[in-house]
Amino acid sequence: MSLVYIGLGANLDQPQQQLEQALIELAQLPNSKLITQSSLYHSKPVGPQDQPDYVNAVALLETELSPLKLLDALQQLEQDHGRIRKRHWGERTLDLDIILIDDLVINSERLTVPHPFAQQRSFVIYPLFEISPTLSFPNGKSLEQLLTELDNDLIRIPD
Ligand code: ATP
Ligand code: CA
Ligand code: CA
Repeated sequence: MSLVYIGLGANLDQPQQQLEQALIELAQLPNSKLITQSSLYHSKPVGPQDQPDYVNAVALLETELSPLKLLDALQQLEQDHGRIRKRHWGERTLDLDIILIDDLVINSERLTVPHPFAQQRSFVIYPLFEISPTLSFPNGKSLEQLLTELDNDLIRIPD
């Protein structure tokens, strides 16, 4: 059994509904349980700026799926949401990133954990802090430390 933090993002085709639906689907993954989810937040895009703002959130999943089986399942959900890859860091209907798996460090062809850019992204660290304020990364960096290095440029969407 692993505890996995998943970052969700969307900026096309009613992104808020894409995320709300994705959270329901995460809760239905086999041999898994959705423990908690953050609020939804509006954020500015990384990469190309000529695309809509994003809606982001983080979810905590308990799962018996192996890391690669989980990645398969998340990529299937992205496909189910009609994700089309046009350009690097471009617009998408749904993005599901594995942020952390317990205190594992994975560097394989398909999967890097912790997610390589998570610590520099306010739209990951602020929602993570909302649901797990005492969390640290395997390199010892606490969310509290990381927050001091990041602008709070997010807008929380009321429930
Ligand atoms: P970024 O990774 O910077 O957030 P992105 O989410 O737009 O960019 P994608 O096109 O969604 O990138 O994913 C590209 C590949 O990243 C995937 O095919 C997957 O194999 C790989 N990948 C590596 N580590 C992870 C991870 N921790 N979570 C999700 N995908 C990962
Ligand atoms: Ca991503
Ligand atoms: Ca991704």
